[in-house]
Amino acid sequence: MEDRMQIAIDGPASAGKSTVAKLVAKKLGYVYCDTGAMYRSVTLLVLRRGVAPDDAAAVTALLPEVHIEFKPSADGQLTLLNGEDITLAIRQEDVTNNASAVAAIPAVRTELTNQQREIAAKGNIVMDGRDIGTTVLPHAELKVFMVASVEERARRRFLDNKEKGIDVSVETLEKEIAARDYKDSHRETSPLKQADDAVRLDTTPMSIDEVVDSIIKLYEARQ
Ligand code: C5P
Repeated sequence: MEDRMQIAIDGPASAGKSTVAKLVAKKLGYVYCDTGAMYRSVTLLVLRRGVAPDDAAAVTALLPEVHIEFKPSADGQLTLLNGEDITLAIRQEDVTNNASAVAAIPAVRTELTNQQREIAAKGNIVMDGRDIGTTVLPHAELKVFMVASVEERARRRFLDNKEKGIDVSVETLEKEIAARDYKDSHRETSPLKQADDAVRLDTTPMSIDEVVDSIIKLYEARQ
């Protein structure tokens, strides 16, 4: 494990972590692990089974049925749940808005944290999420905590949604993002929190390329 290089990218909802982490991984030739996609996958199964996302016992009972895999594809990465391609399904609004409740359940976090550490043990990795620097990979060589104003994050999500044909107003998105921030920061198990040794990066005024470049520079400086 010690000879593996690890970059942990954490931060609140829609701060651009996944886009940036994917590009950093590509530049460095590292594996990319989107831990949010894993929480979303569990959430999708929970919703499909008609289980209440905050029913800890019922959600925990579903965990043995959850087998998540990532598969490289032409335009990035596919997420598979029990062999089914759910890459697009986990981006739907109902999954987005219920993932925080599912992610607050301790048994879900234990299970996914174990799976994330197994993925990281296989090679050099860039992992993004909420608790990577604090809990999943506490010894990562570089920890970045990406933040941006709620207004800017809602604006980015609005543009993303527009491309996907999803029509939700910026005002609604601001409210949803603020609600997710609150839930993610106030849960008991592994809340969203900057690690003491993480570098805080406010991306509000930055382009994606600028964020990627600054992370690569920070990384090179550590080597
Ligand atoms: O990053 P993304 O928005 O895809 O994450 C979806 C949800 O999964 C978050 O709102 C958060 O509640 C949860 N999550 C988490 N810990 C992680 C990654 C995501 O609790 N490491």
